[in-house]
Amino acid sequence: MNLPRPDDYIDIHVHSGRAARGIFILESLMAHEDKLPESISGVAYTYGIHPWFLNESNYSQQINTVENIVVHPGIIAIGEAGFDKLRGPSHELQLKAFEEQVHIAELNQKPLIIHCVKAWDELLAARKKLKPRMPWMIHGFRGSVKLAEQLLSKGLFMSVWFDFILRPESSELIRNIPTDRIFLETDGADVDIRNIYNKVSDDLQISVEELKAIILTNFKNFFSIKSLTTDKNRETD
Ligand SMILES: [Zn+2]
Repeated sequence: MNLPRPDDYIDIHVHSGRAARGIFILESLMAHEDKLPESISGVAYTYGIHPWFLNESNYSQQINTVENIVVHPGIIAIGEAGFDKLRGPSHELQLKAFEEQVHIAELNQKPLIIHCVKAWDELLAARKKLKPRMPWMIHGFRGSVKLAEQLLSKGLFMSVWFDFILRPESSELIRNIPTDRIFLETDGADVDIRNIYNKVSDDLQISVEELKAIILTNFKNFFSIKSLTTDKNRETD
């Protein structure tokens, strides 16, 4: 398993990204694509069915693919999985795929990364019904402080939408996320994760080094990593 080094910036949600020196990425692979995890220094993977690319005719095949591929040790989480009311198939099908992926996550003892757009009640209802033991993380969050508090009270981790997090008006939200639940991401967009760390460390009035230590601890907790030994294959700075 590829793991971040203690001084790495961790970008928790990327699509077809590249690790750079000092940056560790979690690349989100999607079952409708034909891409498998590779052994690349500085990269770990999640694997799942994105609701945008789900339909009645590819459902079974995508579920089978997820079941088969997530046993790969390079895949450290399931997802992104979830609900989108603005794009994708019927809620019934999205729910079916989501429940199945929660089941796969529990079976493989891997946490879940969630994509959720305007379906928070449905997400919380699914959580209440399924009672997962593995941790869940919302990626790309861009809701209110009140909604964040509701999700955090259920034990969820949270990564804020890359575009919102760089704006001054996100500071209140950042300060209201307990530091033991926060992650940061670029979502593979053309933004620098280091700028996001700078903004958040300003919001929290801590140094970037302290923020790196916080996110690394969250990484270890979320992915149940007991000892974080340095990846020997990584080149040294
Ligand atoms: Zn994504």
